[in-house]
Amino acid sequence: MPFKLDGARTVPSVCPYCAVGCGLLVHVRDGRILNIEGDPASPINEGTVCPKGAAAFQLAVNPNRLTKLLYRPPRARAWEERPLDWAMDRIARLVRETRERTFVRESGGMPVHRTTAIASIGGAVFDNEENYLLVKLMRGLGLVGIENQARV
Ligand code: SF4
Repeated sequence: MPFKLDGARTVPSVCPYCAVGCGLLVHVRDGRILNIEGDPASPINEGTVCPKGAAAFQLAVNPNRLTKLLYRPPRARAWEERPLDWAMDRIARLVRETRERTFVRESGGMPVHRTTAIASIGGAVFDNEENYLLVKLMRGLGLVGIENQARV
């Protein structure tokens, strides 16, 4: 019986689940991922992974993974498919309306230029550059509550 990784290409990668950044080895054959495991050459994890990293395979190969945007209107019970452009427009409009309604320029005689009506939580899969851009954008909007799932 052939070994399941026979003829597979090994691609070094990084676990996307948290800020530790454990090294992973992704085994690929014919454009399909066959297996993901810890990279023994990584000085960070030396081949080990936590339960989240051990489940990285199902992040990429999973028939239950959502591939379309779903929206549930207020008080509705069912999810509806919507185009990505629709969601982006809606988010931009709501952020703008909320910011304009709640923006505080001064507090106690001091300039503050902030809104506490919007908060941001970044995803653990963001890399350094994405996190930098996210914080720049959020600070520019005047947000105070800025957090990242990788620290939760
Ligand atoms: S989620 Fe686990 S395996 Fe992934 S980077 Fe964090 S500690 Fe490492």
